[in-house]
Amino acid sequence: MSHQTETHYCSACDADTSHVLVLVRKESPYKSAENRKTKEFLAGLFKGMAVGPFIASMDEFERHLICEKCGNKIIED
Ligand SMILES: [Zn+2]
Repeated sequence: MSHQTETHYCSACDADTSHVLVLVRKESPYKSAENRKTKEFLAGLFKGMAVGPFIASMDEFERHLICEKCGNKIIED
């Protein structure tokens, strides 16, 4: 799978750091209640930002952003 890097804010580093972007196809989006709760929170969070069309086009994928400094993972979907 191809991947690239993007600069994102890392809460663990408390700084903007380089993150490896990995696109992961969703298999079972709402596998568990806990999972759904997190996803709904994230969905609401990101739909509140000006990225609606991009999110819609990437509907089948999660964006995993992994901090190259500390390995902290951010999951966007
Ligand atoms: Zn970090």
